[in-house]
Amino acid sequence: MNPLIYFDAFTHIGPKANVHGAQPWSLDQLVVEMRHCSISGALVSSISSVHYDPMLENRRLSGQLSKHDFLFPIWNAMPHWTGEFPPPEELAGLMEQAGVRAVTLYPKTNGWGIQSKTSQPLLEALERSQTLTILSLPEIDVSGVENLLENHPGLPLLLTGISWGCQRQIIPLLLRHQNLHIIFDHFQINRGVEWLVEKGCENQLLFGSNATDMSMGAHRAYIDYADIPDSARAKIASGNLIRLLKGIKPPREMINRDEDEIMTEARQGKPLSALVLDFHAHILDEGLNGGGGSYTMFNGGPSGVHQLAKRLGIDGIGLMSWNGTVHVQADEGNACVRAALDALPADFSWGLATFDVARESRKEIEQKLQTIFKDPRFLGIKPYRTYGKFYDDPAYDAVWEFGNQRGLYALFHPQRADLGEFDKPCSRYPNLTFVAAHCGGSYQAADAAIAKARQYPNFMIEITLTPVCMGIIDYLVQGAGADRVFFGSDQPMRDPRQQLGWVVYSRLSVEDKKKVLGLNAQALLERIKSSPAPAMAGRDCSTLDGDTLGARTK
Ligand SMILES: [Zn+2]
Repeated sequence: MNPLIYFDAFTHIGPKANVHGAQPWSLDQLVVEMRHCSISGALVSSISSVHYDPMLENRRLSGQLSKHDFLFPIWNAMPHWTGEFPPPEELAGLMEQAGVRAVTLYPKTNGWGIQSKTSQPLLEALERSQTLTILSLPEIDVSGVENLLENHPGLPLLLTGISWGCQRQIIPLLLRHQNLHIIFDHFQINRGVEWLVEKGCENQLLFGSNATDMSMGAHRAYIDYADIPDSARAKIASGNLIRLLKGIKPPREMINRDEDEIMTEARQGKPLSALVLDFHAHILDEGLNGGGGSYTMFNGGPSGVHQLAKRLGIDGIGLMSWNGTVHVQADEGNACVRAALDALPADFSWGLATFDVARESRKEIEQKLQTIFKDPRFLGIKPYRTYGKFYDDPAYDAVWEFGNQRGLYALFHPQRADLGEFDKPCSRYPNLTFVAAHCGGSYQAADAAIAKARQYPNFMIEITLTPVCMGIIDYLVQGAGADRVFFGSDQPMRDPRQQLGWVVYSRLSVEDKKKVLGLNAQALLERIKSSPAPAMAGRDCSTLDGDTLGARTK
């Protein structure tokens, strides 16, 4: 592959209100992240131009960026009627003078009506000047986007902040309106980039990281590993943005010469040679492209997940179901996991089972535990919050007692912000390992997880969540130790590539990255597989099956 220039279509700097102090926000942090992740240029907006006087802060931003020839300002614009902002024709002149080719609009936060006729002069001027206009979906609703596209077919619109749950609304708009462009910041849709390129949308897709909130490396991994023609990859990485900015582009390719071998492989789109085990995947039944609700997941069954894993170098995946967790069909979900284990190569995956603690008796659950864990490929338990019980509820006692005797692990989707639901299980069942999912979702979540990891030796941290917060993998490892943090992706609900890139482009040493990517998971799974037969004592010993345990020791 030719060298690929990455040009980030949306970043921001400036402090945000009510945000954890460890969250990156400054221009220096943005530049350091770009150099680390080999990003050659970026459009940069200022949070302050939304929350203080826009023109004062627009000018301040242009001044701040002027010392870096690879950074280009995005001004925040709004209608002029209250005298706080220049009229459209004057704005056009100011932007021309300052070399600004992109604006953000924040109608909700800035309190103006994007659908009002009074906003038409601004929108018409932006359309006339072909200014890249960046809107975050939470600032407008989908029907507002559709109206905007229909009323201003020449306006180059870039939509950010699209949840992956909006695919059924956004994809039809992309197919219908060629002036709609997207980045994948929150739109981390499984195999979405391939699907959209195949549908002819390659000119509408842009690389945009939403740094300094999010990891730039997470987002470049989605493109570097995309199974698309190199010509489309080059357009998404930078070509489309250069076109939309009428030729503005980074002056040179930026390559991090100090990157480690894991980053080099990822940057070149090669399968990682380090051991990678994905600790969190909600498999669908074969052939499905969605999980009901509002969730599209292209090719989310075993064959699709396996194919993508090979492309990334993922060596193994812990499979739990989607329907058994989110949609409380525990039996069907466990059957789906078993079918996936049957379909996939031996040793590629292991299973986690779910139990209906809301509707089934202790006796029924005990029977199901015994039946399911006769299959040595099941090594974990996946309770879920949709069953309406906290994990420290007595309804779970039978599950944790069994797991403790077998030395299994449980993957918890946290329920309380302080993770208080872990206290009772972690202290009462020391032979069961509890892995908290989604601990990288925010710095507050990371703090709570670090505190529990320090308190309980059987508490582990799994990272996955859409926000792929910049710097948080390092923060978790610094706080809890490299032995306690596990890579997980939540695929195919989210595409695994951003989650993988998040770890790959962390600042961890190669040794620590390898632990997080796979060695920690391998050690835990080996321990479970070689767990000795439980002492035949205690009230649940009648449910244990010694032969099966012997069989599990490979
Ligand atoms: Zn989950």
